[in-house]
Amino acid sequence: RRKWRRVMNVLKELEEACGTHVTRLKQVVDAMSVEMHAGLASEGGSKLKMLLTFVDKLPNGSEKGLYYALDLGGTNFRVLRVQLGGTRSSIVRQDVERKPIPEHLMTSTSEELFDFIAASLKEFTDQENDENISDTSASGRELGFTFSFPMKQTSVTSGILMKWTKGFSIHDVVGNDVCEYLRRAMSRQGLDMHIAALVNDSVGTLALGHYNDEDTVAAVIIGTGTNACYFERADAIIKSQGLPTSSGGMVVNMEWGNFWSSHLPRTSYDIELDAESPNPNDQGFEKMISGMYLGEIVRRVILRMSSESDVFGPITPSLSKAFILRAPSMSTMHEDESPDLIEVARILEEVLGICDVPLKVRKLVVNICDVVTCRAARLAAAGIVGILKKIGRDGSSGVASSRAKGPSSSSNRLRRTVVAVEGGLYSNYRMFREYLNDAVAEILGEELAPYVILKVTEDGSGIGAALLAAAYSSSPETVDT
Ligand code: ADP
Ligand code: MG
Repeated sequence: RRKWRRVMNVLKELEEACGTHVTRLKQVVDAMSVEMHAGLASEGGSKLKMLLTFVDKLPNGSEKGLYYALDLGGTNFRVLRVQLGGTRSSIVRQDVERKPIPEHLMTSTSEELFDFIAASLKEFTDQENDENISDTSASGRELGFTFSFPMKQTSVTSGILMKWTKGFSIHDVVGNDVCEYLRRAMSRQGLDMHIAALVNDSVGTLALGHYNDEDTVAAVIIGTGTNACYFERADAIIKSQGLPTSSGGMVVNMEWGNFWSSHLPRTSYDIELDAESPNPNDQGFEKMISGMYLGEIVRRVILRMSSESDVFGPITPSLSKAFILRAPSMSTMHEDESPDLIEVARILEEVLGICDVPLKVRKLVVNICDVVTCRAARLAAAGIVGILKKIGRDGSSGVASSRAKGPSSSSNRLRRTVVAVEGGLYSNYRMFREYLNDAVAEILGEELAPYVILKVTEDGSGIGAALLAAAYSSSPETVDT
């Protein structure tokens, strides 16, 4: 039938436009590391902001005591507490409370938002008397604050908000130090706590990764949005010459969601999605990769097929609605293992209002999900290898200097390297995770791949902030001397 052929052409075009052959991925790897260089060379030198975090040491396991954290900027707001034993991987106890941020607070006043946060923390600590949690330190309690919005930091305990994202918009905070708002709200609540570290979610994830495994050099978030950070040598941060660091290096927050390169395989769906978004020309990498956008790309493909044929029946009002198809529904369809694809049929009906499609059309939907997810996962993999290349852990520097056969070059070449990965898309979407892991191995090649390990963390964005609060706390011993 002609109509079916037209639909297959749309699919074929999509597959070609989303092509991520390993040669193309290697171009993306190179582009990522080049852009990282440019972003470190000068302010505004790249779409990658490469923000300084002032985190110049990562938790190593020696941290001891009770620490707190707040995590703002994900789907859920979290209040956390960890009890650290003083040796590696010895979190004696951890408690996490998750709360959605009431939507009206996202656009209300700074007082209302920060009062809600401080009140949640107060409530959390007030319960401690009932739960037998003893705070052994005599000084005020130490707090890590995960604030996952782009900010310009001048120290590990201060950061100026550059702009709100993810639906938040409270004008007076922009251009000001977010820690000041939190401090004032805590004092309104009568809370005596000291903010010891202000970080974004990827930095928290790196901190937890490093606490558990000292070979962890980078962290990647792949959830609703996507971002990455890594540990960089101070002398490579050219835009801030003479940066004083205790370790000779610092964590750099890449804000990689904004990465762009002409090598990225872009389709007409991406172009339209971007043009109709509230932030056109922004977050181009994120719009191809993260959980917020994947379902929307799939919806646009199905809509296009529907406008060229009637294999999905008449175009339903739901199918015309942006962002109605979400990543969890997409993974359920993609991973549907029932012979008749009943999950696909159910979601098409419940979410998109498309009823009674024959099996071969259901298979077509699975195919679309596969193409979109495969591209996303493989591009994220190329981004990760791009970071490894920048820090000489992708084998290329080892290869270049292998003629010298120096002991350091060969050991650097085959050095165990861990990347901490967090976020609902990676941890809950098996196909995405497998495509990503496979692509990392494919790009690195079989000799090097066994040395690069991706490790999933959970609640790392928050737990890691508590660990950093410990690492940066003004502990009694150091205060007294
Ligand atoms: P956030 O990124 O908001 O901090 P998470 O890391 O928990 O929160 O990621 C949540 C995101 O992960 C969701 O918005 C969704 O895009 C994606 N996600 C969650 N569960 C699934 C799933 N089962 N399949 C695919 N994607 C999922
Ligand atoms: Mg998160």
